[in-house]
Amino acid sequence: MKSRILHVDMDAFFASVEQAEQVEFRGRPLVVVTKVNSPRGVVSSSSYEARAYGISAGMPVGEVRKKCPHVVLVPGDYEKYVHVSEQVVRRLEEFSPEVMVASIDESFLDITGSVHLFGSEDKLAIKLKNMLWKEMGLPCTVGIASTYIVSKMAVKQAKPDGYLSVPSGRELDFLSPLPVRSIPGVGPKAEQIFNLLGVYTIGQIWQLSLEELEKIFGQSYGFHIFQWSRGYDVERFTHTDLPRVISREITFDKDLVYWRDIVPLVVKLMEACTYELRQKKMEARRIVFKVRYADFITKTFSYSFPRPTFFDNNFIPALFSLVEKAKERRYQVRLVGVMLSELTWTVRQSSLFYLSREERMNRVLRSIDVLRNRYGFSYVHWASALGGER
Ligand SMILES: [Mg+2]
Repeated sequence: MKSRILHVDMDAFFASVEQAEQVEFRGRPLVVVTKVNSPRGVVSSSSYEARAYGISAGMPVGEVRKKCPHVVLVPGDYEKYVHVSEQVVRRLEEFSPEVMVASIDESFLDITGSVHLFGSEDKLAIKLKNMLWKEMGLPCTVGIASTYIVSKMAVKQAKPDGYLSVPSGRELDFLSPLPVRSIPGVGPKAEQIFNLLGVYTIGQIWQLSLEELEKIFGQSYGFHIFQWSRGYDVERFTHTDLPRVISREITFDKDLVYWRDIVPLVVKLMEACTYELRQKKMEARRIVFKVRYADFITKTFSYSFPRPTFFDNNFIPALFSLVEKAKERRYQVRLVGVMLSELTWTVRQSSLFYLSREERMNRVLRSIDVLRNRYGFSYVHWASALGGER
């Protein structure tokens, strides 16, 4: 049987979270900004009502006020968005046991085995959209296709608050008329090269042989474009009983300058990963920290433990040492991610690892002291980032 992949992309996620929380904000132009009362504040997310005024991410607050004087400005609360994102993922797991979290507002569900429980793909998709909207107040767009990449492209066509399914076998009909930029991974530079060659649509890419694409774009990227343009996933997401990695990442709509703003978010991402790790009764031997800098250079830093672990107080010092390495490159930051890999099932007795909250806090507090000594006072704020939830 062919796989069926459902992609969920939350619409204007940060702005929607604020509108869901404050009923009086619904239906109004609203923007989430980095700083409300500073000329240096910029838009990190804008509601679709605000987009109608020509407001978009990255726009300075002053310009936003000029374009729409009655706009609602809300300061961004990224920890809250990470938290809501986690809740969304929990709810998505009701529709398939195989949920892959791609970013703070995007997930992929392999629904091949679960679709029959809902009657049809359409019914499953509508139920999922209604659940997120009626129970959480969050709009989203859903795409279904036989590959990850085509489901993502379906979502792009159906935005906002939409649903589009590409039936198996109809992928090429769907892809053929779309502009080359519809392929995730084809940016303005590649588009420009295509246009110089007289290639504007995905269907026209098929006229180029693999060898030609490799000659134009280099061997690796050329191969990717060859596959993508035909709707094939290049990275196969194999599903075995044992997940290969647990990961979370956030892309900032606006590059972040200060590590003191970034570090608490990184800790939250790590906590989300280690929480999932413990829920799955697993341990990890390796932690990876990923950073994409403003110049689009992506670096990963990793640390391997002598033996697998599931304790935050093992992961945190390791993560901080990786962050220190990432800081050495003095660029603004676009994206951060945390990944746990080399996973194994936990073999010790469960009473040992499901520590009480008190025991866990004690361990955490002890490790905070160690960190304070090692990294100085600037990491103290991390304690408050940790203390609030759970
Ligand atoms: Mg989105």
